[in-house]
Amino acid sequence: MAFTRKLDNTQNSTTAARLIKPRTHFCLEPKVKVEKPFKYERNLTTKFKFGAHVGMAGGIYNSVTNARNIGANSFALFLKSPRKWVSPEYKSEDVKKFHHLCSVHGYNPRTDILPHGSYMINLGNPDSEKEEKAYNSFLDDLKRCEMLNIGLYNFHPGSSLDGDHKEALVRLAKNINRAINETKFVKIVIENMAGHGNLIGSNLQDIKDVINMIVDKSRVGVCLDTCHSFAAGYDITDSAKLTEFIKLFDDLIGPEYLSAIHLNDSKAPLGANRDLHQKLGLGYLGLEVFRAIANCERLQGIPIVLETPINTGEDDEVYGEEIKLLEWLEGRSAEDSEYTIKRKQLSQLGEKEREEQLKKFETKQEKGTLKKKKNNNNDNNNKRKKTIAVEEEEGGKSETITPVKKRKVNPR
Ligand SMILES: [Zn+2]
Ligand SMILES: [Zn+2]
Repeated sequence: MAFTRKLDNTQNSTTAARLIKPRTHFCLEPKVKVEKPFKYERNLTTKFKFGAHVGMAGGIYNSVTNARNIGANSFALFLKSPRKWVSPEYKSEDVKKFHHLCSVHGYNPRTDILPHGSYMINLGNPDSEKEEKAYNSFLDDLKRCEMLNIGLYNFHPGSSLDGDHKEALVRLAKNINRAINETKFVKIVIENMAGHGNLIGSNLQDIKDVINMIVDKSRVGVCLDTCHSFAAGYDITDSAKLTEFIKLFDDLIGPEYLSAIHLNDSKAPLGANRDLHQKLGLGYLGLEVFRAIANCERLQGIPIVLETPINTGEDDEVYGEEIKLLEWLEGRSAEDSEYTIKRKQLSQLGEKEREEQLKKFETKQEKGTLKKKKNNNNDNNNKRKKTIAVEEEEGGKSETITPVKKRKVNPR
């Protein structure tokens, strides 16, 4: 894929406290003071857009400086508080600063920035009042993107809750179509999910079904989260398996829809349906899939964004190391001796946590099996009783109704 990157004109500066001077423009540009030197340099020769989810505390424009600080070639951010329905509008000065910093640091907002939508948005909600509330917040997010000239917007497709799953997919597609009509250019990117049952998008088929219902297909895309895919049961632990998964995506959904990747290792094992992100190489995915991604030409040019956990006392600066790790993996084979040492070291670091999670998973599975057995026995008893009752009354057939458990939409 053709890929060009603007030169980062602050790259060689070593001054401790720098004042970024606005370049000559027709409009008045804000002066933005940068208090400290950038910790990591950007790799401007790689064709991969490795980046991370960065903070925006103190003003939306700070996300650009934070991304530059960790040497990111792409980045994600929240457009407003992800756990509030209403947030204050942007100040026009902040929007100007955002545009200015993108230009100074060489980020193209149309292709290099992938905001993450609010977690509370559930466009498939069977309650029409709640659906409308979600839609308003969704549309507000999209309008914020366009104000910032951002070309991609990632969000969680939500849940059918206690309603019909197919109907929820129809509602989701209807709301995406509606939002496309009310905005100009931002591409709506659906993230795949880790859960099961009524959560939309854990199965790639859900995403295909939704895209099939979108009128302007140039305005919709998909973000594959490595942890979510693995937790949903798609094994991507090595190069061959990753290739197989991407082929499945291409055959089912279509290569043109792959718009972004979220990079996370998984604390929980394959198919656990748990959304538990882990630092690269420490989880059940292991470093190999990230090496495979860093050598997959197909993924060049799209945002590949880290969402690995930040420990207490750390901030998004820790992502700088993982970005450098990804860039180090580029061009390395699975047999490379330095790579195999690194893979083992990282795997050992995560060993204890993997064991703990495995125990939890096995206990849950045992409980699930016991519960299932109990439910089956109860069901069979109830069925027998119900069948007799129905047969006595109508001579008809009985229907077993499986209780639908409400699942909370897991963050990320
Ligand atoms: Zn997410
Ligand atoms: Zn994600």
